[in-house]
Formats: sequence, C-alpha cells, structure tokens
Amino acid sequence: MKQSRAETQKESRAMKDKSVKRSTAITQEVPELAPRGWAGIQKTIAETAGIALLLVEGPQPPALAITNNNSICEALQSSSAHVGLCDPFCGTAHDRAVSANTITHYRCHAGLQCFAMPVEIDSQRQLAVIGGRAFVSSSDYRALAERFRSGDLKDLSSDNLFRNVSFADEADLDHAALRVAMAAREFDQTKVADSTASTVAAAPTPEGGDAPAEDRRAEASIRRGLDRRAPFADSIRRFTEQIDASEPAQTYQSILTQAADLVRAERGSLLLFDESTNHLTMTASRGIKASISEVGPIAMGEGIAGSVLREGRPVVASMDDLGRSSLPERGYKTKSFISYPISIGSRRFGVLNLTDKVGGGAYDANDLSVIELVAPQIALALERAAWQERANQFQVMSITDPLTGLHNRRYLEARLAEELSRSKRYDYPLSFMMIDIDDFKVYNDQNGHQAGDRALEITAQCLRAALRKVDVASRYGGEEFSILLPQTNLQEAGVIADRIRRKIYSTLFTHGKSQPLGAVTVSIGLSALSPALDSAEAMVRAADRALYHAKRHGKNRAYAYQGVQTGANRTAAKSNSF
Ligand code: GH3
Ligand code: MG
Ligand code: MG
Repeated sequence: MKQSRAETQKESRAMKDKSVKRSTAITQEVPELAPRGWAGIQKTIAETAGIALLLVEGPQPPALAITNNNSICEALQSSSAHVGLCDPFCGTAHDRAVSANTITHYRCHAGLQCFAMPVEIDSQRQLAVIGGRAFVSSSDYRALAERFRSGDLKDLSSDNLFRNVSFADEADLDHAALRVAMAAREFDQTKVADSTASTVAAAPTPEGGDAPAEDRRAEASIRRGLDRRAPFADSIRRFTEQIDASEPAQTYQSILTQAADLVRAERGSLLLFDESTNHLTMTASRGIKASISEVGPIAMGEGIAGSVLREGRPVVASMDDLGRSSLPERGYKTKSFISYPISIGSRRFGVLNLTDKVGGGAYDANDLSVIELVAPQIALALERAAWQERANQFQVMSITDPLTGLHNRRYLEARLAEELSRSKRYDYPLSFMMIDIDDFKVYNDQNGHQAGDRALEITAQCLRAALRKVDVASRYGGEEFSILLPQTNLQEAGVIADRIRRKIYSTLFTHGKSQPLGAVTVSIGLSALSPALDSAEAMVRAADRALYHAKRHGKNRAYAYQGVQTGANRTAAKSNSF
C-alpha cells in the first residue's frame, strides 16, 4: 500500500502540473481491493457501536473500506496540507498493529481515541482494522474545537466538519474491537461454511442423511432466535433511520414517537439527564397537555423516572403498585406504564416513559423487550444529539468574540463579501467603519489588563446601543472594531459614526478621566462602496486610511475616505471630518 500512497502523490503532482488552482486529491478508499462482503459487516459494527472502522493494508489513507468515518478525520485526511498531522497516528497504525501482532491503542493529535489490530480475513494479505476515532472526553473535544476556531486548523473549518463526530467510552471501543475480532473470525468460517454447503448441495445425500444431531439442534436454535427477532428487525432498522435527525430537538421527538409507536403508547415523555446538575429534564412529550417548559427538572432518585435512572433498571408496572402518593393524578387512561433508563455502560443519558397502551391493555415483559432492542440505538442517538448541540454551539462560538460577544473578524469578512455582492447586484449603497480606541495602551498600562478588558466590553455595549439592527458590529482585533452598514451611504454613515463617537465620549468608564483626552474616546474611519472602492479589501483599506487621518488630526473624531489614489499621483487620502 506504500505504493498507493506514492501513486496518490504522483497523481496529485501531475494534477498540480496541469492546473495550479486544482486542489490535491487524496484517495481515501480503494473498495475494489477490499475482501468481498467485509464492508457490510464492518458497517454494521461501526454504526451500532457509533465509531469509525477502517480496513487497512498499509499506510492510511487510503483504506480498503471506510465505515462511519468521523467527519473531522475525513476533513483532515482529505487536505494535503493537514494529512501529515495524522501520519504518525492512523497513518502508521497498520504497521504498529501488524508488528505487535495484537491490538494497539493510541490517541491521535486531534485527541481522538483509536485502536488498530491485525485481522485475518484474507490469508494472502496482512490486513488490520483501525477503529474508534472517537472523543472519550469533552476536554479533548474542546481543545480540538479551539484549534478549529483560532488555531492551526482554522483553514479547515466548514459546515461539514461536525456532520459525524464520534464519541465513545474506552469500554465501548474495546467492545467494538472484540466484535470486529469475532466478525473477522466468522468471516473466514462463513466462507468455509458456504463452500461446504454448496458441496453438499452438489452431491445430495440420501434422505435423512447422517448429519450429526448436534448440528441440527444448533441450527434449529439459531432459527428460533432469528424467527423471534424477525418481526422486529424491520422496526429496528426503521427506528434507526427515523431518529437520525440533524437537529437535536427533532431527534428527541422522533425517538419518543418511534418508541411509543413500537409499544403503541398514546402518551409518553423523554427526559434527558444532565450530569452537571444531576437532574432530568423533559425534552419531548406525546399526549401530555403541559408544555415541556412547564415541567420542572427532576432530581436523580426522585419519583419513578429519577429512581429508574439511579437504579439503572427499567420498571414495568401499574400505577397502583406504587401507591397513590407517588403519582399526581394526570388523567391517564390506563394505569400501566414503562419507565426505561437509557444508558451506555456507566453513562446515563435519560429516561423514556411510555403509558396509555392503545386498547387499554397492560404493558408486560414483551413490550419491555421491544424497547430493550432499540435502547442501544436510542442511547447512541442521544449521544449524537448532545454532540450535535455542542457542535451547534461551536458554530456560534466560531463567529463570536468571547470577550465582547460581538461578531469576530472572520464573520465580518464573510458578511462583508456577502453584502458587497448584494449591494452591487441591487445597486444599494454600503458603508464600512473602522473604530479604534484612542490611547488604549495608556489605559492598559495605567489601570491593568483587566480594566482594559472591561473597557472593551463597555465600548462594545456603546456600539450596540448606537447601532441599528441591520448594522453588523464586530471586534476586528485588539482595541479595533468595525461596523458594516448595509443600505447606508457615506453621509448617513457619518451621522451614525458621530453618534457612536459621542456615545463613547459621554459614557462613564471607570478610569476614563485619566486618559490623555480626559475620557475614553474613539477615532473612526469610514468608507463606502463606489466604483473606485468595489472590493472588500479596498473598502477596509480605505476605512483604515481615514482612521489614520482621524488619529493624525487629534483623535476623538471620524473621517471619511473620499480620495481616489492613482499610481502616478500619490496624493494623501482626502478625508472629511463630520
Ligand atoms: P492610538 O490612540 O494610536 O490607537 O493608541 P493606542 O495606545 O490605542 O494603540 P496601540 O496600538 O499603541 O495600543 C493598543 C493597545 O491595546 C495595546 C494592547 O495592550 C491593547 N489591547 C489589545 N487587545 C487587548 C485586549 O484584548 N485586552 C486588553 N486589555 N488590551 C488590549
Ligand atoms: Mg489599534
Ligand atoms: Mg488605539
């Protein structure tokens, strides 16, 4: 496979020669080289375990089969600029596993927990399975998120990055590895069994042939098992498909709906457990009048749901069994209910409550076993939803400045490009403002960095107060802010700039009086879209020049850039003060 990597690189070099702009393609998967039938088996294990699995024959990428890959790994390994980061980990995992001839564990640069182990699914080749690529702690996740937000992985940020983030307990990884090892062993046996079967079929044995009785018994027992599960197989498959929503709220609701449908419950609720507060909160309900927000949190151990969660054991009972005092009267049609704790290993996710069976019957062990079958899927979906929520938060984080809560420069640049093309298309005016706090170094030096931070927060509040809803305020960096003013010409922008300037001048900053101008003040540079300034870069540069003029002319003022600079005549930007 070393060759494949070399080939890939050769290919990419050839591509580069052809077109400099075309990005380097890194082959991720060569399915035609995978043993036939393995990918399906691997997929089932990967999806039920909620981790990535890859069959490899050498350095990775490429792999022979990739299933349920972590979208972060996919992004990293598809990028020629970043794949090198993974080389010491997944890149060389095959080598390590094969030379150790046993399972090896590693945590990669991205903080993902992985294993690699040799598998004997093809006697001709030395194959290994890489598994995991899952976060086992939220601090690892946060550290990686920070790298995407503002560190070395900033360029890789994309909407798809968190499409399929994996997460697991170390015990889950071990369990999945065990399943892979067993499946690999069976994979060989299946082939052997298949060929035996066809031999037998080709040379029929006499009626009542002498197949050992034990074999027949074993086969009958497997059949019985299959028969019992067969009616549910479809429901489970549908269940998994239906609850796989990208929006957490939708996931919660469909888990409940699907589970309730399976046991024909007219009513139910899904409560999620928050480890930090030790409380359960209702996140989805069916057939219950009170809205979700009206139902308060339930402490661990409190009521039926709380104790089911604490004990980790489901309850199928009649409300009468529990005594009157334990339940408020909520007009249930039947008294029979199921309360089911959702967990993986020692991790508790929540409780599923189901009641009011259609037709008025009571719930029994059969109903419970149906829920039991889908419970692992529910747990995984809940886990995925929790991570999705965090990923959504990350999306917000990645465009927000943590100190001031304003947008950050990254967002501003994206919006500026967007507004620019819209303004050009519809011939709308567009203005831009660069704001810089005057003598901020003095403020910091005299009053300390913390006081400086507080002043930045207050400045941000002043900006918010002086702006309209449509204006986009961002912290450009340090003590510089920028404002994007859609559908606003330079003159209108000037009025707003002066409002901002006066607002800050008149606002009481704790140490304002000791500033050189007797108060905290700002200088502002303005620019507007025009035939001469028709790119984001040109507008920002012009506002910057105007700001420089404002500083040169005594600070605490706003200047607009109106000059057109030509190469031959390097006149200074002509700016107007307002
Ligand atoms: P001018 O009027 O010319 O703008 O002078 P200035 O002192 O404001 O500008 P200068 O660029 O010399 O100093 C900017 C200071 O802003 C330096 C730095 O310590 C401070 N600063 C930048 N970012 C932060 C921050 O996040 N927090 C705090 N407290 N200070 C910051
Ligand atoms: Mg500055
Ligand atoms: Mg400054």
